[in-house]
Amino acid sequence: MTEPITLRELEGLDVEILKGVGEKRKAALHEFGIDNVLELLTTYPRRWVDRTAEARVSDLVPGQEALVLVEVRSVSKRPMKGGRTMVSVSVGDGTGRLTATFFNQPWRAKQMYEGLHVAMFGKADMYKGALQMTNPIVDLIGDRTGRIVPIYPQSEKANVSTWELAGWIENALERCKVRGLLDPVPQQVCETYGLVDRTTALWGIHLPDTLARKDDARKRLAFDELLRVQLVLVARKRAFERDSTGIRHEVGGELQKRFVAALPFPLTSAQARVIGEIETDLQGPHPMHRLLQGDVGSGKTVVAVAAMLAAVQGGHQGALMAPTEVLAEQHFVGVTRLLDGLQVPDPNNLFGDRQLRVELLTSRVTGDRRKQLLSDLASGQIDVLIGTHALIQDGVQFASLGVVVIDEQHRFGVEQRAALGKKGADASTPDVLVMTATPIPRTAAMTVYGDLDVSVLDELPPGRTPIVTKWAAGPLLEQMMWGEMRDAVAAGQQGFVVCPLIEESDKLEVASAEQVFERLGQEELQGLRLGLLHGRMSSNDKEETMNKFRDRELDVLVATTVIEVGVDVPNATMMVVLDADRFGIAQLHQLRGRVGRGKIASKCWLQTSDPETSSPRVDALVDSTDGFYLAEVDLELRGEGTIMNTAQKGASDLKLASLRRDRDLIDMAREAAFSIVDSDPTLGGHAGLRDELELLLTPEEEEFLFKS
Ligand code: ADP
Ligand code: MG
Repeated sequence: MTEPITLRELEGLDVEILKGVGEKRKAALHEFGIDNVLELLTTYPRRWVDRTAEARVSDLVPGQEALVLVEVRSVSKRPMKGGRTMVSVSVGDGTGRLTATFFNQPWRAKQMYEGLHVAMFGKADMYKGALQMTNPIVDLIGDRTGRIVPIYPQSEKANVSTWELAGWIENALERCKVRGLLDPVPQQVCETYGLVDRTTALWGIHLPDTLARKDDARKRLAFDELLRVQLVLVARKRAFERDSTGIRHEVGGELQKRFVAALPFPLTSAQARVIGEIETDLQGPHPMHRLLQGDVGSGKTVVAVAAMLAAVQGGHQGALMAPTEVLAEQHFVGVTRLLDGLQVPDPNNLFGDRQLRVELLTSRVTGDRRKQLLSDLASGQIDVLIGTHALIQDGVQFASLGVVVIDEQHRFGVEQRAALGKKGADASTPDVLVMTATPIPRTAAMTVYGDLDVSVLDELPPGRTPIVTKWAAGPLLEQMMWGEMRDAVAAGQQGFVVCPLIEESDKLEVASAEQVFERLGQEELQGLRLGLLHGRMSSNDKEETMNKFRDRELDVLVATTVIEVGVDVPNATMMVVLDADRFGIAQLHQLRGRVGRGKIASKCWLQTSDPETSSPRVDALVDSTDGFYLAEVDLELRGEGTIMNTAQKGASDLKLASLRRDRDLIDMAREAAFSIVDSDPTLGGHAGLRDELELLLTPEEEEFLFKS
């Protein structure tokens, strides 16, 4: 065989073919998650130590941080008061000696032994006349030579050392030299984006001779990861466009004009722009698949309604689907209010107009009423239907579904979207607008929602006074917080108290909410009219409580996160979040969005039980009300794992690429994916790439690529 080696072949090679890997090492590697050569070669160093840049021990300056490369001379361990231990490791490099002291890390005594080479980073101090570092960061280097030493992730349990990994990887790469590695990315793409070839990249990431080489290598390998994800997303997008016939809606008709004219406010320029983007899609021959991103309160509902009305204007229907029944009910209230009294121009009607009909379908609609609704829907007498995702289930038959709006918290599945295809009139696929309540950074949007077009509502309606957010740290501030709540109520305003989040158990959460409710009624908020709202209440009770609050029969709503989305009461100007540090940034932002909806200045107090330690999440909320900024901070703090894991299967293939740091690479990969897919939709002429997608991504990810 003289063909270059593919990743699939590498995956087929057991690690035991490598020099020095017998049964024992094989088992250890397995513990580490490495069974084959591909897994070995894609285990990347977590950092690189440049030997030429190290300080020598004789150069260390007390009080300054430095990295030294040293050999272990001796190790000693001794117990201290209170059952703690201290490990002292004496090290040196020929220019001098130094002692590394580790407190409460007894395992260091086993980790380090005489003759071992280690890189130590820390602040040098003088202690009893000798140099010392306390709890330095240690990287084991073993006996690796070379200018730059790769440091691999370590696992105590798996017992595989970084120098062993480096040795096996070098051995594997050496053995690939004869046939060479296949590079499936078109030469031209590499040239356009200044990418090194794959062989160079693999050598460069594992065994770089300069740090610049390593950077080039990382760029190429991260690009490959992102390209694979983008190829799938872009191919899926194109497949949707290719395979489904959309409805060519007529836009800008009388109905929409009436709707906009009847609004009690002018559209923001962002709303007008986004409605324009949507209309362009609606007119086109392909079904729309568009994501609408907009911060809390940016006015997404108006945009969604405008899109649905375009369908109604042309004799089709609109559907709005929410993730929960409560939200569906809230949307129904909001949309009905927006569409109140709207007349549809109707040539068949004697008077030229008819009343627009909006209905709600949830599990609570049962019996004859449900039958009637379903039959009216099937005969086209309902214009807009609001409900949960169950709307697209079997048994719900639309006369002619034209536009679907999906208000989602979680990703609306590919399968669900496919199910929509069958709901349209005469085999045409309805247009789909997905709204997200949580802004996500652009890079993440391109990766998680890369098969959708994206519109952003980046402007809040005018006349809102910004919400002031404060951290209630300690009893004094808490007193002030409750005082302000009472003052707000005395001034005729209303407020929310959000109870501590208890993720483990719904039941505990409700119990705690009940407790808070009781306590506030007797103590801090005594004399005020309090209401309690939580997820275990029946929909009826919830609705009743919400209505009372809306009608100002309640002053303060004590609630769990059920109020996170959709509650729109402009007279509510105060919010208190208890144990705020338990909530995530996005969640706090959503919660806070329940106030600041009217003209009166609003305030949000974030209470934490530990007044000493600030939480980076609470800090972020205090600093900013900009959802996109907060989303960036969130991504920064949590890493992409959380966004990607649930949302995207290709995530497992993102080992080097970072949604935070690799914006430019994501743009490049997306652009490259479009150029590749548009010239070769099924990748028939790119067998190498296609094979890698099949190898590295899940079946449903590729499905769209290979069906013709
Ligand atoms: P979102 O769903 O994006 O959080 P909503 O659609 O619920 O926001 O709108 C929030 C509030 O802003 C509603 O009370 C709505 O009536 C109001 N609103 C929407 N668009 C405008 C606008 N252009 N000018 C003034 N108020 C608006
Ligand atoms: Mg809304």
